[in-house]
Amino acid sequence: MTIVKCRYCHKEIDKDTAYSPAKGRYYCNEEHYLKHEGKKQKDRENYMNIKYGKKTPIQNAESDRLVEYLQNTIGEINEPMIRKQITKLINSGHTYKGIELTVDYIIKIKLLTIEPKYGIIYLVEKYYNETKGYWIKKQRIKKSVGGHIFDSKTNVVVVKKRNDKIKGKLKTEEF
Ligand SMILES: [Zn+2]
Repeated sequence: MTIVKCRYCHKEIDKDTAYSPAKGRYYCNEEHYLKHEGKKQKDRENYMNIKYGKKTPIQNAESDRLVEYLQNTIGEINEPMIRKQITKLINSGHTYKGIELTVDYIIKIKLLTIEPKYGIIYLVEKYYNETKGYWIKKQRIKKSVGGHIFDSKTNVVVVKKRNDKIKGKLKTEEF
């Protein structure tokens, strides 16, 4: 019996019973072959997106929600342009939640007007890290104030504090 490795899951398998779509290529079964092909295709797409920038804008539930938020916040937006800008921001490491919080910060804290004809990319790139810093600080203050106010030794408060901590952590990672 000859032992080969599945290219997808790297399990050691019997060459004679392995699924082999081509000479020298072995998989546990057809499913692992298809999964491996899918993963390769995805890796290639991600690589192309990072290297060349995605040609067609991302369209998914999260981007739709962000577009809707921007429409409600900024007003008459140029949707195709905004979608391209969102895609560019996402491909350069920003998050949907982070973009939303930054737009909120630009309008409510910096008191700036976002011109619909220019969209969001310039201001979001400019204020993204500042918003992140502001937001994390705000979360910390909230937590410490909460701890101060509820400085009791009852179990309920302990549970609440722990939940806040987890929530804060999750939100911080959204950026
Ligand atoms: Zn396998």
